[in-house]
Amino acid sequence: AEPTGPGPRVAVVGAGLAGSLLAILLGRRGLAVTVYERRPDPRATGAERGRSINLALSARGLAALDAVGLRELALEQALPMRGRMVHPAGGGHNFQPYSAGGERAIHSISRAGLNAALLDTAEATPGVTLRFGARVTGVDTGDDGTGAGRLLLEGGATELAGVVLACDGAYSAMRRALRPDGGFEAGQDFLEHGYKELTIPPRDGDFALDPGALHIWPRGTAMMIALPNVDRSFTCTLFWPKEEFEALDAPARVRGHFRAAYPDAAALIPDLAEDFARNPVGSLVTVRSRPWVREGDGAVVALLGDAAHAIVPFFGQGANCAFEDCLEIDRCLTETGGDWSRALPMYQERRTANTDAIAEMALDNFVEMRDRVASPVYRARTAAQHALERRLPGRYVSRYELVSFSTLPYAEIPARIRRQNRILAGAAAAGGLLVAAGLLAARQRRSATRS
Ligand code: FAD
Repeated sequence: AEPTGPGPRVAVVGAGLAGSLLAILLGRRGLAVTVYERRPDPRATGAERGRSINLALSARGLAALDAVGLRELALEQALPMRGRMVHPAGGGHNFQPYSAGGERAIHSISRAGLNAALLDTAEATPGVTLRFGARVTGVDTGDDGTGAGRLLLEGGATELAGVVLACDGAYSAMRRALRPDGGFEAGQDFLEHGYKELTIPPRDGDFALDPGALHIWPRGTAMMIALPNVDRSFTCTLFWPKEEFEALDAPARVRGHFRAAYPDAAALIPDLAEDFARNPVGSLVTVRSRPWVREGDGAVVALLGDAAHAIVPFFGQGANCAFEDCLEIDRCLTETGGDWSRALPMYQERRTANTDAIAEMALDNFVEMRDRVASPVYRARTAAQHALERRLPGRYVSRYELVSFSTLPYAEIPARIRRQNRILAGAAAAGGLLVAAGLLAARQRRSATRS
């Protein structure tokens, strides 16, 4: 274990996925950590409506869970999805494996279940205290001569804190609180698309669709996906421009639209119009904020997870990426001998290029999922990529594999893909030249025999 002893009081704001994992990692270092969560304990109250019910966990998230001994537990609660099942507008469906050998999977897991497992482990970790129903409204970094950092809580109470780790999500109050006086900059880009969740219940006690795939209905400006749940239902998420959602303002319109655009799915959702009316439309935001770390006389504050860099969900990486942040903070603490003033800037330095890269790749993947996956050209290209992966194992690896099935830093992926593509283009051109040279030689031989 790392340095123990008094040290600064560590506050983690938010007991979501990042906050609860971070608390475990810090508790294991022998630190005293208090986690402040505005909601009541979700293990007692159940999942919040309107937040994603399940999420896709992949290599990066699993590596982080492995570090706290929760990998196997998570996999037991999850369902492997080995590829995409594409439901084109014209009907039918086709399966596109994620990896060349078809064996690699991303894992559909209940957000509430994963959060509960992390909270149980955090609670059982010596040094960790969980405080539910405690909304943090701001932080005072103690620059007024007192030299004492304080956390400001709703209702006016304050609590001493020398290190504040803000994991309070995409609409972070901590990020807002830090901006006016600290020179923090935060940009939020909202997509015109929102999302709404719908449920495909089990049919005759079994899954109504293949549970071994992530289902996609690509429809150009709209896209629906469905991930399996262990209770044999599927959670569908419809991504659509917000004003389109608003236009479906009567049950008959909802049913009519789904029958026309998603006939196979519509037939599997008996309570479609009720589900549609009941579930809210969520927003999709990319957060770009800088810096993530600010040190005052009495406290050092850092943002992580969605609070620092929320991304759109089209690569299924937000939580995976937030977990990587936690591991990086832990690593930086090890490398600096537990010196927060050096560890947190080091964490920011190492992570920003990576989170910028996945933010761009996630936006790009939206176009791929809602449009390209349906095209025969795309399917041919993916098949060719898989053939190359089999012929050049480890040397040609697709972007999807590098993001989902490796822990290669995100920032290295675009350059690696460009390099692979250049080599491929060169090989194709060389192949083309060889073919051309062969044809030329054959033609010369033919004319030589004729003359
Ligand atoms: P959150 O999980 O949002 O947790 C923040 C916590 O802070 C909450 O518990 C909140 O109540 C608490 N809080 C907020 N304000 C305060 C306050 N003032 N005081 C105290 N507590 C506070 N990621 C994936 O990896 N794979 C996926 O498949 C995937 N699918 C997604 C689908 C959708 C539709 C969406 C919207 C997101 C998806 N994500 C996915 C992203 C993922 O949900 C987030 O990246 C992840 O939840 C970030 O974790 P976090 O701990 O930073 O924030």
